[in-house]
Amino acid sequence: MKKPLVYTERWAKDTSFSIDIKTHIHHEKSPFQTIDFYDSETFGRFFTLDGLMMVNEKDEFIYHDMISHVPMAVNPDIKRVLIIGGGDGGTAREIARYSHIESIDMVEIDERVVRLSEQFLPQTASTLSNDSRIHLHFKDGVEFVQNTPENTYDLILVDSTDPIGPGEGLFTEAFYKNCYKSLNAKGILINQHESPYFERDKIQMVRAHQRIKSTFPIAKVYQFNMPTYPSGHWLFGFASKHYDPINHHQKDVWESFGLYTKYYNSNLHEAAFQLPTYVLEALNHDA
Ligand code: SAM
Repeated sequence: MKKPLVYTERWAKDTSFSIDIKTHIHHEKSPFQTIDFYDSETFGRFFTLDGLMMVNEKDEFIYHDMISHVPMAVNPDIKRVLIIGGGDGGTAREIARYSHIESIDMVEIDERVVRLSEQFLPQTASTLSNDSRIHLHFKDGVEFVQNTPENTYDLILVDSTDPIGPGEGLFTEAFYKNCYKSLNAKGILINQHESPYFERDKIQMVRAHQRIKSTFPIAKVYQFNMPTYPSGHWLFGFASKHYDPINHHQKDVWESFGLYTKYYNSNLHEAAFQLPTYVLEALNHDA
């Protein structure tokens, strides 16, 4: 019998996660990273950057619900949004579901991720070319926020790769300070905050939190269950100049929008900010 092709991702030095592959659809090296698309039975179509799972058809709704709807339920009046990274289009798709959003700037360093996602992953990417409020900028997000005038955005979503390769600059204090400047007085920043479980991810989680905490008066962390990211336990950061994600949670306003979300709901919103003891302990310590 022919051995199946297997995609394997290293989660820790002696621990890996594997998916049997039906088809290896595409492989290329862009100027920024190595991009692969695969088909599998359980997770459907998925793509990786530099050998790390980014998005798959089965669990992308979890990540994209949690990055988008949490801030929208804290300030339902958000109108101007900046997405940094997010080349698969899933985050823009969720934000575009709010009819009152006026503009979505998406700054993705690698145009190839967008074009290949449009070709191979329409589930997340099809909104990108079908909504005139979405403006694509193929630039480095670090430079983009450096040059953004003060008070431009209500919400910045950092939908980034890990802090290695092109994503490195998106985890620095200088970047968070430029996000702060680019947000208006009630602005919210959500960032991909790594994971508490395996050591490598935990170090990045702690660093990111320390840096955001020294920049924003409100800096919280919330969790979600992401089966295909290392350990399945993943985090986003919620930082703001004004809003507390629980005290200012506008459940009724958000529910009046009538959006169906397969993962996010109002009870989960508040629960997601309740962190396990070992995570709280790690976040209160320096990396
Ligand atoms: N959901 C995914 C995760 O957490 O693994 C992230 C998805 S999205 C594909 C991440 C995107 O960030 C990539 O397409 C990458 O090209 C982009 N990116 C990395 N560094 C960037 C930078 N400095 N500026 C803008 N985009 C960047």
